[in-house]
Amino acid sequence: MQLYNKLSAKERAALLEEAGEDRLTLSFYQYAKIGNPELFRNHLFLAWDEMEVLGRIYVAHEGINAQLSVPAANFETFKNFLDGIYFLKDVRLNIAIEHDLKSFLKLKVKVRDKIVADGLNDDTFDVRNKGVHVDAQKFNELLDDPNTVLVDMRNHYESEIGHFKGAITPDVDTFRDSLPIIEEDLKEHKEDKNLVMYCTGGIRCEKASAYYKHKGFKNVFQLEGGIIEYTRQVENLKLENKFLGKNFVFDHRRGERISEDVISNCHQCGKPCDTHVNCANEACHLLFIQCEECAEKMNNCCSDKCQEIAALPYEEQKALRKGKGNSNQIFKKGRSEVLTYKR
Ligand SMILES: [Zn+2]
Ligand SMILES: [Zn+2]
Repeated sequence: MQLYNKLSAKERAALLEEAGEDRLTLSFYQYAKIGNPELFRNHLFLAWDEMEVLGRIYVAHEGINAQLSVPAANFETFKNFLDGIYFLKDVRLNIAIEHDLKSFLKLKVKVRDKIVADGLNDDTFDVRNKGVHVDAQKFNELLDDPNTVLVDMRNHYESEIGHFKGAITPDVDTFRDSLPIIEEDLKEHKEDKNLVMYCTGGIRCEKASAYYKHKGFKNVFQLEGGIIEYTRQVENLKLENKFLGKNFVFDHRRGERISEDVISNCHQCGKPCDTHVNCANEACHLLFIQCEECAEKMNNCCSDKCQEIAALPYEEQKALRKGKGNSNQIFKKGRSEVLTYKR
């Protein structure tokens, strides 16, 4: 169950009742200017440890990005604590009830250079000067406007299995790569078009929208809460769903189906398929799209070479890997010459 923080007292009571002794898992992020991240980090850690919060939280001069779980019984205390911090008051929380309590085992609050590794030089623009947040309904309206340019701010392997109808999907490996490409493509339209963007959960657009405003785009909009929140609103409010295919997610599921359309192909045989897998050769671990027949035929590998290696005894594989320093990169760029049908 996925919920939104702007809950009425009644909805919140129902949520907590359903959770009972369970924990709520939640995530949120906020760009803000934090003068002393170390001090802020300590403040969070002391308070949250007391509330039995578990999770992974990044704090930086540019803001906070948190994924955590909190006992349902302590949720009100936790929420009040957030509301007491001016830039976290009424921050949007993505909340779910976690019945299997294994999502986080420790509380880790880390000071980082960035809350998202995006490689941008922040000193050049103010990340708080962002685009207009739109909900699913307003987003759909913007998409119907012929004056709108819609841009997918995610990477190639994400947009490949699912995206909004009519979106520009830059063929990039990282967020940082996409920014100048889009700017170049759209430079004629800085003033006359609506630049509308979206990503998985909204965080990438927070920064991208500020970047484009800084670059002179006048009408910048972003989908609040990203595809995840859009899907929820479309279901709840019975709106038209303009998303095709699957939403790529960074957990074991790899993708969440949003419409029945299959818009990508098996990278090995070319037939329609949108199931991401990682090559079974641990030393390769390439992320690619593979249909069930190919998975069987190739023993879950991306190439004949990987099949040979994956068939070796574990110790031998380990010896082969030694010194290569390239094992578990789960999101290795998803490109390889061995894949016949990767566009
Ligand atoms: Zn296939
Ligand atoms: Zn492989």
